[in-house]
Amino acid sequence: MPQIAVVGAGPAGCLAAKQLAAAGRDVTVIEEHQTAGRPAHCAGIVTAETIRMAGFRPDILGTVCAADVVFPDGRRISVERRNPIAYVIDRPALDCRLADQAAEYGAQFLYDERYISSVITPREVRVQTVRGILTADLLIGADGQCSRVAASLRDNAAREYLYGMQVDVLKEPADPYRMVLRLGRELAPGFFSWELPLGDRVRVGLCVTPQYGPPAPYLKKLLTQTGLNSSRVVARYVGKIPMGGRRITHGERTLLIGDAAGQVKPVSGGGLYPIFTAAPLLCRTIDRAYEMSDFSTTVLSLYDRAWKQALGKEFDRGWQLRKLFRRLDDRGLNRAGAMMDTPEIREILDTVDLDRPSDLAKPVLAQKGIKSKLLRLVVSARL
Ligand SMILES: Cc1cc2nc3c(=O)[nH]c(=O)nc-3n(C[C@H](O)[C@H](O)[C@H](O)COP(=O)(O)OP(=O)(O)OC[C@H]3O[C@@H](n4cnc5c(N)ncnc54)[C@H](O)[C@@H]3O)c2cc1C
Repeated sequence: MPQIAVVGAGPAGCLAAKQLAAAGRDVTVIEEHQTAGRPAHCAGIVTAETIRMAGFRPDILGTVCAADVVFPDGRRISVERRNPIAYVIDRPALDCRLADQAAEYGAQFLYDERYISSVITPREVRVQTVRGILTADLLIGADGQCSRVAASLRDNAAREYLYGMQVDVLKEPADPYRMVLRLGRELAPGFFSWELPLGDRVRVGLCVTPQYGPPAPYLKKLLTQTGLNSSRVVARYVGKIPMGGRRITHGERTLLIGDAAGQVKPVSGGGLYPIFTAAPLLCRTIDRAYEMSDFSTTVLSLYDRAWKQALGKEFDRGWQLRKLFRRLDDRGLNRAGAMMDTPEIREILDTVDLDRPSDLAKPVLAQKGIKSKLLRLVVSARL
């Protein structure tokens, strides 16, 4: 009997398995696909800090030193840096590398095995998979955006889901270090689109909120508008992002991590930095539970407290910003763009840390007259 059953061999499951196995725990990972990291859905944008936390250099496909934010009226606000703002990594390769490292520490991977349900008893958790039953002390739900483990904790849906789609097209980027983010209901209603430089390719994608329909027609429009529609598509990805967090991230003998826990940055939809932050906190809580031989919600709530202390401020502020952003139609976005387009605010935007984008809110709001203008904008926003 393994001590810990982990559902999902994405980055959250593989990283948790690696850290737990490295600490001497007996870990089994249950993954419904035949390998880790597939099917891919992520754009792969991470900061240098996330790479540092990974502890190894992932395969880097692109380096971003400049970012343009394009408003619906064509206004472009650019951030330029000497040092990279972000990197685009090979996400499937990252997941596989983490899985290999976990296996090297002794974690066992059951591929092609789907988690169905679990039953918690006073002595163990019984995990039902398509092939049989596995018993463990603890269950970790790292099964992504549609997590069944999270659903087993009841009334636990994410507050909002975004639908994403992207393609890699064979074309040299106009600027090999620049990413372009576009806002507006025409191209990416409810979120934004991205255009990332990947050497001899460009990765183009977007997310939309479901009320505006599926993302495919928007992507088609985006490819036409950016002149990339005649380039050969060499990869296609689809995926969902849970936004706004989940209410519950632990239960009796159960812990959640990654998308399963709703640990996604509300401004950018990025989930990798939160995973690298949460995994050591999850392992520390599990150590404590073993020390006390107690896998109850009382002890496991330490994890909840710890990850919310580390990430909660950014998540809460980011969610407030997201709610404001969603209220703005194209006219509102254009007016917000015009407000931001001053030398003083551009200077503030230049300092953006993609892991903590909401840190910009305070200095921006401290600019003379901005708070009242934004307030008027939000109040007058058409829904
Ligand atoms: C379009 C898009 C672009 C994104 N871009 C970025 C980005 O640039 N940067 C960033 O940081 N984040 C990005 N994200 C978010 C990021 O991809 C996720 O936060 C991250 O993948 C979450 O990892 P995870 O391990 O929690 O879940 P996942 O990566 O979804 O892994 C979950 C695993 O669980 C398995 N699984 C699910 N159900 C079961 C079951 N019942 N039984 C067995 N196995 C199961 C799945 O097969 C999968 O392997 C993006 C997401 C999308 C959709």
